[in-house]
Amino acid sequence: MGRFKTTSERLSNMTLVFATNNENKVKEIRAVLGDSFSIITLQEAGIDIDIPEPHDTLEANATEKSVTINKMTGKNCFSEDTGLEIPALHGAPGVLSARYAGEQKLADDNITKVLHELQGNEDRKANFRTIISLILEGKEYQFEGICSGTILKERKGGKGFGYDPIFVPDGTNKTFAEMDLTEKSQYSHRAKAFHKLVNFLKKNHING
Ligand code: IMP
Repeated sequence: MGRFKTTSERLSNMTLVFATNNENKVKEIRAVLGDSFSIITLQEAGIDIDIPEPHDTLEANATEKSVTINKMTGKNCFSEDTGLEIPALHGAPGVLSARYAGEQKLADDNITKVLHELQGNEDRKANFRTIISLILEGKEYQFEGICSGTILKERKGGKGFGYDPIFVPDGTNKTFAEMDLTEKSQYSHRAKAFHKLVNFLKKNHING
């Protein structure tokens, strides 16, 4: 007679499609995934589309991405949408973080614009906020991760991506761009949201 599988065994049998084309996000998630479950990327699933982000909230964009990929693959999947929110700029760049300096979505131009907009401003507080949207057995669940920190006056570090060279999370004096993936994950918005997803899967709905 077979024995019941433990929660960890059932979770480790699970595969989710990660609905992103951003290799940096995949690397970060894989660095914190451990052996909890498996993910396959859009590339590995043979899907080549630029997923739309047409909405004015991170929550709605995350839903758009996960629903799109769930419809295309018929598989359980998750997406994430992230924004850099700066109170001194009334929450900008926020949901427009990728396109802050234009539709070409260039990280260096986005950083230059943030530094320009904050010039002379001593209030340099900022948050990264991630929303993960999980579609599991046709139902959606969302998880939020927030990382508070400070925007520097100039770039520091050569690792990471996006706004990493100008963002120092609270609790350290290094920018994200000066950290390797494991160190970034101790502070990051994305890792916090992802840990919530893993805990949710451990407690619920694990059909292995
Ligand atoms: P999206 O979630 O891919 O739409 O990302 C929005 C914008 O925020 C893009 O310009 C990303 O490069 C940037 N971004 C997202 N996550 C991070 C991060 O962890 N560090 C730095 N920039 C990020």
